[in-house]
Amino acid sequence: MYIDNELCQKCLDCLPVCPVAAIKARNHRIEIDYDECVECGVCRRLRICKEKAIMQVKEIPYPRLLRQVFSDPTKNHPTTGVLGRGTEEMKTNDITNIFTKGYIGFSVELGRPGLGARLSELDKVTRKVTEMGVVFAKDNPVIPLIQDMKTGALLPEILGEKVLSAIAEFLVEEPRALNLIRELTAFLDSELDTVATLSVIERADENGRSVFYEKLKDQGFHPYPNGKVNIGLAKGAS
Ligand code: SF4
Ligand code: SF4
Repeated sequence: MYIDNELCQKCLDCLPVCPVAAIKARNHRIEIDYDECVECGVCRRLRICKEKAIMQVKEIPYPRLLRQVFSDPTKNHPTTGVLGRGTEEMKTNDITNIFTKGYIGFSVELGRPGLGARLSELDKVTRKVTEMGVVFAKDNPVIPLIQDMKTGALLPEILGEKVLSAIAEFLVEEPRALNLIRELTAFLDSELDTVATLSVIERADENGRSVFYEKLKDQGFHPYPNGKVNIGLAKGAS
Protein backbone atom coordinates (compact mmCIF):
# COMPACT_ATOMS: atom_id res chain seq x y z
CA MET A 1 0.00 0.00 0.00
CA TYR A 2 1.21 3.53 -0.63
CA ILE A 3 -0.05 7.12 -0.51
CA ASP A 4 -0.14 9.34 -3.55
CA ASN A 5 1.16 12.60 -2.10
CA GLU A 6 -0.12 14.54 -5.11
CA LEU A 7 -3.65 13.71 -3.94
CA CYS A 8 -3.11 13.61 -0.17
CA GLN A 9 -4.37 16.69 1.70
CA LYS A 10 -2.62 15.71 4.97
CA CYS A 11 -5.87 15.57 6.92
CA LEU A 12 -4.40 12.77 9.10
CA ASP A 13 -7.71 10.84 9.12
CA CYS A 14 -6.01 7.63 8.01
CA LEU A 15 -3.32 7.54 10.69
CA PRO A 16 -5.40 5.95 13.49
CA VAL A 17 -6.93 3.19 11.34
CA CYS A 18 -3.73 1.27 10.64
CA PRO A 19 -3.53 -1.68 13.08
CA VAL A 20 0.27 -1.64 13.09
CA ALA A 21 0.78 2.16 12.98
CA ALA A 22 2.51 2.01 9.59
CA ILE A 23 0.95 5.27 8.33
CA LYS A 24 3.18 8.10 9.45
CA ALA A 25 3.49 11.86 9.09
CA ARG A 26 7.08 12.75 8.30
CA ASN A 27 8.93 15.35 6.27
CA HIS A 28 5.64 17.22 5.67
CA ARG A 29 4.23 14.15 3.94
CA ILE A 30 1.95 11.31 4.93
CA GLU A 31 3.68 8.04 4.15
CA ILE A 32 3.17 4.36 4.58
CA ASP A 33 6.24 2.72 6.04
CA TYR A 34 6.91 0.03 3.42
CA ASP A 35 8.72 -2.24 5.85
CA GLU A 36 6.09 -2.00 8.60
CA CYS A 37 2.95 -2.23 6.42
CA VAL A 38 1.47 -5.74 6.52
CA GLU A 39 -0.77 -5.20 3.46
CA CYS A 40 -3.92 -5.89 5.52
CA GLY A 41 -5.97 -3.52 3.34
CA VAL A 42 -7.81 -1.92 6.29
CA CYS A 43 -6.91 1.66 5.29
CA ARG A 44 -8.42 1.17 1.83
CA ARG A 45 -11.37 -1.00 2.84
CA LEU A 46 -12.61 1.61 5.34
CA ARG A 47 -12.68 4.24 2.55
CA ILE A 48 -11.35 6.70 5.08
CA CYS A 49 -9.57 8.85 2.49
CA LYS A 50 -11.87 11.32 0.77
CA GLU A 51 -9.11 12.16 -1.70
CA LYS A 52 -8.66 8.50 -2.74
CA ALA A 53 -4.95 8.94 -2.11
CA ILE A 54 -4.38 5.50 -0.57
CA MET A 55 -3.30 3.21 -3.37
CA GLN A 56 -2.58 -0.47 -3.80
CA VAL A 57 -0.03 -1.69 -6.33
CA LYS A 58 -1.57 -3.92 -9.00
CA GLU A 59 0.42 -7.01 -8.07
CA ILE A 60 2.27 -7.49 -4.82
CA PRO A 61 5.44 -9.49 -5.57
CA TYR A 62 6.50 -12.65 -3.70
CA PRO A 63 7.60 -12.89 -0.88
CA ARG A 64 5.85 -9.62 0.11
CA LEU A 65 2.59 -11.19 -1.06
CA LEU A 66 2.66 -13.35 2.08
CA ARG A 67 1.94 -10.20 4.10
CA GLN A 68 -1.42 -9.85 2.39
CA VAL A 69 -2.23 -13.56 2.57
CA PHE A 70 -1.67 -13.63 6.34
CA SER A 71 -3.08 -10.18 7.14
CA ASP A 72 -6.08 -9.48 4.92
CA PRO A 73 -9.09 -11.60 6.01
CA THR A 74 -10.87 -10.90 2.71
CA LYS A 75 -8.25 -12.92 0.80
CA ASN A 76 -8.54 -16.67 0.40
CA HIS A 77 -5.41 -18.45 1.47
CA PRO A 78 -4.03 -20.12 -1.70
CA THR A 79 -3.15 -23.40 0.04
CA THR A 80 -6.33 -23.92 2.08
CA GLY A 81 -8.94 -21.92 0.19
CA VAL A 82 -10.00 -20.61 3.61
CA LEU A 83 -10.35 -16.91 4.40
CA GLY A 84 -7.78 -15.77 6.94
CA ARG A 85 -4.90 -17.34 8.78
CA GLY A 86 -6.04 -20.60 10.36
CA THR A 87 -7.38 -23.93 9.16
CA GLU A 88 -11.07 -24.49 8.63
CA GLU A 89 -11.12 -26.62 11.78
CA MET A 90 -9.88 -23.73 13.89
CA LYS A 91 -12.74 -21.61 12.61
CA THR A 92 -15.67 -23.99 12.56
CA ASN A 93 -14.80 -27.10 14.61
CA ASP A 94 -16.10 -30.58 13.85
CA ILE A 95 -15.42 -30.50 10.11
CA THR A 96 -12.20 -32.38 9.62
CA ASN A 97 -12.05 -34.20 12.96
CA ILE A 98 -8.31 -33.54 13.22
CA PHE A 99 -8.49 -32.63 16.90
CA THR A 100 -9.66 -36.09 17.74
CA LYS A 101 -9.79 -38.34 20.84
CA GLY A 102 -6.45 -39.10 22.42
CA TYR A 103 -4.85 -35.94 21.05
CA ILE A 104 -4.72 -32.36 22.21
CA GLY A 105 -4.64 -29.68 19.55
CA PHE A 106 -2.66 -26.48 19.92
CA SER A 107 -2.39 -23.20 18.18
CA VAL A 108 0.23 -20.53 18.65
CA GLU A 109 -0.88 -17.21 17.25
CA LEU A 110 1.81 -14.59 16.83
CA GLY A 111 1.37 -10.86 16.39
CA ARG A 112 -2.10 -10.00 17.64
CA PRO A 113 -3.30 -7.65 18.91
CA GLY A 114 -1.80 -4.62 17.25
CA LEU A 115 1.84 -5.59 16.99
CA GLY A 116 2.23 -7.88 14.01
CA ALA A 117 5.04 -10.40 13.68
CA ARG A 118 8.01 -11.01 11.43
CA LEU A 119 8.04 -14.48 9.94
CA SER A 120 11.43 -14.92 11.64
CA GLU A 121 9.41 -15.15 14.89
CA LEU A 122 7.22 -17.85 13.35
CA ASP A 123 10.42 -19.64 12.32
CA LYS A 124 11.44 -19.81 15.99
CA VAL A 125 8.10 -21.42 16.85
CA THR A 126 7.99 -23.94 13.99
CA ARG A 127 11.57 -25.03 14.81
CA LYS A 128 10.78 -25.37 18.51
CA VAL A 129 7.59 -27.39 18.12
CA THR A 130 9.21 -29.61 15.46
CA GLU A 131 12.00 -30.35 17.94
CA MET A 132 9.27 -31.24 20.48
CA GLY A 133 7.84 -33.86 18.12
CA VAL A 134 4.43 -32.40 17.29
CA VAL A 135 2.34 -33.19 14.23
CA PHE A 136 1.35 -30.08 12.28
CA ALA A 137 -2.38 -29.79 11.60
CA LYS A 138 -3.33 -30.70 8.05
CA ASP A 139 -3.98 -27.62 5.90
CA ASN A 140 -2.39 -25.23 8.39
CA PRO A 141 -1.36 -22.29 6.14
CA VAL A 142 2.02 -22.23 7.84
CA ILE A 143 3.05 -25.67 6.49
CA PRO A 144 3.85 -24.54 2.90
CA LEU A 145 6.26 -22.00 4.40
CA ILE A 146 8.35 -24.74 6.04
CA GLN A 147 11.42 -25.58 3.96
CA ASP A 148 12.66 -28.46 6.07
CA MET A 149 10.09 -30.61 7.90
CA LYS A 150 12.90 -32.28 9.93
CA THR A 151 13.95 -29.01 11.58
CA GLY A 152 10.84 -26.86 11.08
CA ALA A 153 12.97 -24.17 9.38
CA LEU A 154 11.01 -21.75 7.20
CA LEU A 155 12.01 -20.64 3.70
CA PRO A 156 14.93 -18.22 4.18
CA GLU A 157 13.64 -15.60 1.73
CA ILE A 158 10.44 -14.99 3.75
CA LEU A 159 11.92 -14.42 7.22
CA GLY A 160 11.92 -10.61 7.02
CA GLU A 161 8.28 -10.37 5.96
CA LYS A 162 5.88 -8.90 8.50
CA VAL A 163 2.28 -10.11 8.93
CA LEU A 164 -0.61 -9.06 11.12
CA SER A 165 -0.60 -12.54 12.60
CA ALA A 166 0.31 -16.11 11.80
CA ILE A 167 -1.09 -19.22 13.44
CA ALA A 168 0.83 -22.46 13.81
CA GLU A 169 -1.51 -25.37 14.56
CA PHE A 170 -0.39 -28.81 15.71
CA LEU A 171 -1.27 -31.86 17.80
CA VAL A 172 0.35 -34.07 20.39
CA GLU A 173 -0.76 -37.22 22.17
CA GLU A 174 -2.71 -36.31 25.30
CA PRO A 175 -0.16 -37.74 27.83
CA ARG A 176 2.55 -35.40 26.44
CA ALA A 177 0.38 -32.28 26.34
CA LEU A 178 1.00 -30.89 29.83
CA ASN A 179 4.78 -31.06 29.49
CA LEU A 180 4.54 -29.45 26.07
CA ILE A 181 2.57 -26.54 27.54
CA ARG A 182 5.16 -26.02 30.28
CA GLU A 183 8.12 -26.07 27.91
CA LEU A 184 6.44 -24.07 25.17
CA THR A 185 5.11 -21.28 27.39
CA ALA A 186 8.61 -20.83 28.88
CA PHE A 187 10.03 -20.69 25.35
CA LEU A 188 7.44 -18.20 24.08
CA ASP A 189 7.97 -16.04 27.12
CA SER A 190 11.74 -15.84 26.77
CA GLU A 191 12.50 -16.10 23.05
CA LEU A 192 9.88 -14.12 21.13
CA ASP A 193 10.02 -10.54 19.99
CA THR A 194 6.23 -10.22 19.60
CA VAL A 195 3.04 -11.22 21.43
CA ALA A 196 1.88 -14.84 21.36
CA THR A 197 -1.34 -16.61 22.31
CA LEU A 198 -1.23 -20.32 23.07
CA SER A 199 -4.59 -22.03 22.58
CA VAL A 200 -5.49 -25.59 23.52
CA ILE A 201 -8.13 -27.46 21.56
CA GLU A 202 -9.80 -30.46 23.09
CA ARG A 203 -12.65 -32.68 21.97
CA ALA A 204 -15.26 -32.93 24.74
CA ASP A 205 -16.10 -36.39 26.09
CA GLU A 206 -19.46 -38.11 25.58
CA ASN A 207 -20.91 -36.18 28.55
CA GLY A 208 -19.75 -32.87 27.14
CA ARG A 209 -16.99 -32.59 29.74
CA SER A 210 -13.64 -31.06 29.00
CA VAL A 211 -11.27 -33.40 30.83
CA PHE A 212 -8.00 -31.76 29.83
CA TYR A 213 -9.31 -28.36 30.88
CA GLU A 214 -9.86 -29.72 34.41
CA LYS A 215 -6.39 -31.25 34.36
CA LEU A 216 -4.87 -27.88 33.44
CA LYS A 217 -6.59 -26.21 36.37
CA ASP A 218 -5.42 -28.98 38.74
CA GLN A 219 -1.85 -28.31 37.61
CA GLY A 220 -2.03 -24.63 38.49
CA PHE A 221 -2.72 -23.19 35.03
CA HIS A 222 -5.43 -20.58 34.56
CA PRO A 223 -6.99 -21.47 31.21
CA TYR A 224 -9.57 -19.13 29.77
CA PRO A 225 -12.31 -21.28 28.22
CA ASN A 226 -13.44 -20.04 24.88
CA GLY A 227 -15.22 -21.66 21.96
CA LYS A 228 -15.20 -20.44 18.41
CA VAL A 229 -18.01 -22.11 16.55
CA ASN A 230 -19.38 -20.40 13.47
CA ILE A 231 -22.72 -22.17 13.25
CA GLY A 232 -23.94 -22.73 9.72
CA LEU A 233 -20.58 -22.53 8.01
CA ALA A 234 -19.90 -26.26 8.03
CA LYS A 235 -19.37 -28.03 4.72
CA GLY A 236 -22.66 -29.36 3.41
CA ALA A 237 -24.76 -27.15 5.70
CA SER A 238 -27.92 -25.94 4.05
S1 SF4 B 1 -6.86 10.28 4.71
FE1 SF4 B 1 -6.10 10.65 2.63
S2 SF4 B 1 -5.84 12.84 2.51
FE2 SF4 B 1 -5.99 12.36 4.68
S3 SF4 B 1 -3.84 12.08 5.34
FE3 SF4 B 1 -4.61 10.08 4.77
S4 SF4 B 1 -4.04 9.82 2.62
FE4 SF4 B 1 -3.87 12.00 3.10
S1 SF4 C 1 -2.47 -1.90 4.39
FE1 SF4 C 1 -2.80 -2.24 6.60
S2 SF4 C 1 -0.76 -2.18 7.49
FE2 SF4 C 1 -0.60 -1.22 5.46
S3 SF4 C 1 -0.90 0.93 5.84
FE3 SF4 C 1 -2.92 0.11 5.31
S4 SF4 C 1 -3.84 -0.39 7.30
FE4 SF4 C 1 -1.63 -0.11 7.65
